[in-house]
Amino acid sequence: MNRVYLGLGTNIEPRKSHLEKALEQLKQNEAITIVKQSNRYETAPVGYTEQADFLNMVVEIKTTLSPELLLDRCQTIEKELGRERTIRFGPRTIDLDILLYNEENIKTERLTVPHPRMHERGFVLIPLAEIAPHIKIGEETIDKLLNKLPKQERDDVKVWQQ
Ligand code: AMP
Repeated sequence: MNRVYLGLGTNIEPRKSHLEKALEQLKQNEAITIVKQSNRYETAPVGYTEQADFLNMVVEIKTTLSPELLLDRCQTIEKELGRERTIRFGPRTIDLDILLYNEENIKTERLTVPHPRMHERGFVLIPLAEIAPHIKIGEETIDKLLNKLPKQERDDVKVWQQ
């Protein structure tokens, strides 16, 4: 059994329902069990900033799927939830990223794990630290990575209460 952390994000309404539908679809796969879920966090957009705020969360799953098959599953969910992408880093119905797959380092044409930009993203590190406070990303503890984040990047990520 493989232990995997997935990052989920959406910034198109209804945002809460998009996260729930994505979780539902993950659960429906008999090769996937959701073990833990973080809070939902509301986060200011990074990169292309002329867009609505995101809801982000991280889930821990157990799965028998290989990394590539899990990526297929995630991409099918993205498609089924009607993802339309016109601008890189722009608005999306749902985005599913494989953050960590066991402690493996994977680099194929389709997949880089640990996810290449997770180290510098508050909206990934903050929910991940909530459900996996002792995890390491490569050689670094999550605490150390969080401490390296610019204050603004941390302040832009707030627990979403609704
Ligand atoms: P994005 O725009 O962030 O959703 O990126 C989608 C692309 O990233 C897809 O073509 C994936 O094949 C690729 N990719 C590389 N590494 C990962 C990963 N760890 N998780 C999800 N997608 C990945």
